Amino acid sequence: MPCPSLPLTGGCQCGAARYEIAAEPLTAIACHCMQCQKQSASAFGMTLRVARESVTVKGTLARWDRKAESGNILTCLFCPVCGVRLIHQAGEASVTVNLKAGTLDDTSWLKPAGHIWVESAQPWVREHLAGPIYEKAPPAFDDLIAAWRQEQG
Ligand SMILES: [Zn+2]
Ligand SMILES: [Zn+2]
Repeated sequence: MPCPSLPLTGGCQCGAARYEIAAEPLTAIACHCMQCQKQSASAFGMTLRVARESVTVKGTLARWDRKAESGNILTCLFCPVCGVRLIHQAGEASVTVNLKAGTLDDTSWLKPAGHIWVESAQPWVREHLAGPIYEKAPPAFDDLIAAWRQEQG
C-alpha cells in the first residue's frame, strides 16, 4: 500500500508525546533481534527509517542509551508518562532516525520492505517473511530502500 499523504502523524499510547513526519519514509523494516523482541514485548520491532530533519516531536521525551551489538551507542526516546518507545537514533550526527512504526495513527498501509536479524526470529514468523532478508544486521540499507520504493510504486 502506498504511504498516505504527508505529514504522517503518530504518538505514544497516552497522548503526551506526539510527532509528525513531513517527508516520505526511506524504508520500513522489521527487526527480529532479541533486543527488539524485548523492547516491543512482542515478536519483532517495526521501524520506519526517516530523515531526522523531517521529524517534529511535540511533548517531552525521556531518553535511555544502550550499546548496540556494533558497539555504537543507540539513543532510545520514549514517553516518560506511558513508557512507549517512539524513536531510536544512532548518535547525534545521524541524518536518519528510526521511528517505531506501530505508533503511527494509521498503520493500515504499513508493510515491512525487508527483515533483519532473522537468525533470532520466532519460528512462526519466519514462515511469512518476504523481501530482502538478513540473518544479522544488513551491511547497507540500499536493498531495503529499493524494496520499499518498489513496494510504494
Ligand atoms: Zn505517553
Ligand atoms: Zn532489533
